[in-house]
Amino acid sequence: MPKDPVCGMNVPETVPYKLTYKGVTYYFCCEDCLEEFKSDPEYYLSRMQKEPHKH
Ligand SMILES: [Zn+2]
Repeated sequence: MPKDPVCGMNVPETVPYKLTYKGVTYYFCCEDCLEEFKSDPEYYLSRMQKEPHKH
């Protein structure tokens, strides 16, 4: 299941909120997260990679 890069939620691929950025499709839980990502994609992508595991 894809992960919303803005809030970190797992999102089903059936959601209408998605964006293809640099050839990769990202999925979002809501329109707000999609808009956030669009405003600064690089920030959210680098944050996503650095995010430590919380388990
Ligand atoms: Zn979200």
